[in-house]
Amino acid sequence: MIVRYIDPSVRVVPAHGKDIILGSLDHLNARELASCTFVVDCDGEVESKWRTREDIVISQHRDLDIDTAVLGGGLRHAVLDYVGPMFESRRESEVFTARLIDFAMGLSGTFGVAADAARSIPDLPLRLSVTDGHRRKIELSDLTSSSRWVSDLSIPSVATIIDELADALSWNKDNITKVHQIAALGESKMCRMHHKTGCDKCMIRRYSGGHTFHSFLASILTLVVGTSISEQEIARSIRVGSSFASEEWDVLKRLHLRGIHIGLKYVDFGTLN
Ligand SMILES: [Zn+2]
Repeated sequence: MIVRYIDPSVRVVPAHGKDIILGSLDHLNARELASCTFVVDCDGEVESKWRTREDIVISQHRDLDIDTAVLGGGLRHAVLDYVGPMFESRRESEVFTARLIDFAMGLSGTFGVAADAARSIPDLPLRLSVTDGHRRKIELSDLTSSSRWVSDLSIPSVATIIDELADALSWNKDNITKVHQIAALGESKMCRMHHKTGCDKCMIRRYSGGHTFHSFLASILTLVVGTSISEQEIARSIRVGSSFASEEWDVLKRLHLRGIHIGLKYVDFGTLN
């Protein structure tokens, strides 16, 4: 998504993983560093020593994909395209679209709190064993009550999601208790931006990556619309429909300023609408 806004004169080098990018910083000399800017996913946490550097631009939410979905406007268009035919009036479909988006964000944020807690326990599987020893990532439809949550548009508690994850992934009792404890700690953390605990505004920002969100939204839409919609399809629809004005996305704004500072044109405002 971001590449669409980068000036053609800039060489973009994709790297896989924040740790690889940040680790490479120690191997570059001052001259090389002066002409580079690193764009990384926040992924829940970025060490504070990286946060103050002008040459490191961090996603506003957990990653750049979820930045696009939340900020770019394409999400509304995408969902409206799918659910529009279910309604007689444009107004009804707009209202339902807004509710569905709130639900999808709330659900993937809540799931993210549970998943993050599980990830902090070594060797606890978050992937589902399927035949032939293969594993695949867990999907919304693997959780027993998921279709009820979708039909009621009701977001379950973190604790409920942990219990359903535990069922689907056959976690043992000890691990289930630990995940509950860690998740409760995560939920009770104070949000610095809004000065409250269990901040639902920040749930999606801190805990849901683009992959989880796209996959959950695809499952939700599949249930709601009644035809199968894939994660890739929904991700593409969101990207296609998204656009950013210069001030709307911190990542672009910071890249632009960094470019000015080092005398390079980074962001191509000609493509911004
Ligand atoms: Zn907050």
